[in-house]
Amino acid sequence: MNEATNDQAGGVPRAAGDGSYDVVAVGAGAAGLNAALLLGRARRRVAVIDAGEPRNAPAAHMHGFLSRDGLPPATLLELGRAEIARYGAGLVRGRVEHIDPGFHVRLDGGPVLAARRILVATGLRDELPDIPGVRERWGKDVLHCPYCHGFEVRDRPLAVLGTGPGAVHQALLLRGWSDDVAFFAHTLDLAAEDRERLEARGLRIVEGRIEHLVADGDGLRGVALADGRTVPRAAAFLFPRLVPNDGLLTRLGCEKDGGWVVTDRTGRTSVAGVWAAGNVVDPRAQVVTAAGMGSAAAFAINNDLLEEDVAGAVARRRAATAGGGVR
Ligand SMILES: Cc1cc2nc3c(=O)[nH]c(=O)nc-3n(C[C@H](O)[C@H](O)[C@H](O)COP(=O)(O)OP(=O)(O)OC[C@H]3O[C@@H](n4cnc5c(N)ncnc54)[C@H](O)[C@@H]3O)c2cc1C
Repeated sequence: MNEATNDQAGGVPRAAGDGSYDVVAVGAGAAGLNAALLLGRARRRVAVIDAGEPRNAPAAHMHGFLSRDGLPPATLLELGRAEIARYGAGLVRGRVEHIDPGFHVRLDGGPVLAARRILVATGLRDELPDIPGVRERWGKDVLHCPYCHGFEVRDRPLAVLGTGPGAVHQALLLRGWSDDVAFFAHTLDLAAEDRERLEARGLRIVEGRIEHLVADGDGLRGVALADGRTVPRAAAFLFPRLVPNDGLLTRLGCEKDGGWVVTDRTGRTSVAGVWAAGNVVDPRAQVVTAAGMGSAAAFAINNDLLEEDVAGAVARRRAATAGGGVR
């Protein structure tokens, strides 16, 4: 069942007479909502469809967004939904299964929305390593981004779990937040050069396979190793495998490079009429960056629609002139 909200008319978001939208955005995180805000204010007919699983939902607070620092992530989205509603942009709760060229946006077991342009802002998935305790503490005191949560654990005993590429850089970076950072080599075969860099920066390297994370009601307590040792730690960082939710884009034929759908600076993909913004195309995008990408895409989409509107008006005028309708 797909529930339409923010609706001025009371059923589905405001659409054109033929039921179509200028733009359907898939994903109502920061990227999709900011695009909808600009497009609604540009008086375009916009629907945003959202499955309700924003990436930062496990975190209690969002940091690094000017004027919104420390806000619960869900509150930012609530505020965004209320803002787009003011401009007639509607939110439809549901999951988009497929987008037919042209465009027809098919929701799971629900309506099919017709749109002139598409914005995909579906984010990415963090694939976590299979270490007991990681999933339970994810977003609380098992973290990935020092810029998002490093300040909150500054000067504490920190762990970096060597679960994949990027862990060494993450450890070197974290040293800026604490002078007690332990690098758990786990299954990584550390290159001599990396070992030297870590040690030169004062990081402690802990050898051995991680068995599980130790936590109690107050949070993370330590990292337990297969050899029976437990190293006390207050927070752990790791680098998840980042998997873009880009199936809708790839099935439309959007080109990829290095595992990510390619866009220009406005978010335009290789398929005419299709834009993408936020983490679905840029794993580095924080909330503020994703919102900015949505904004840039909205400008470009509105210009593209304008060109089509003008071309249509000129064609109609010429046809009328040729038929003697306009003097
Ligand atoms: C634990 C954690 C904490 C973080 N903390 C911070 C922080 O403090 N500060 C910061 O700046 N960044 C933080 N981030 C990063 C932040 O989550 C991203 O920058 C941000 O979510 C990207 O926004 P987005 O709009 O691209 O994607 P998202 O916010 O993930 O939104 C995508 C939306 O699309 C929906 N969707 C996906 N597929 C479909 C579909 N087929 N149909 C309909 N809807 C769909 C999803 O349900 C979701 O609601 C954190 C990330 C994590 C994992």
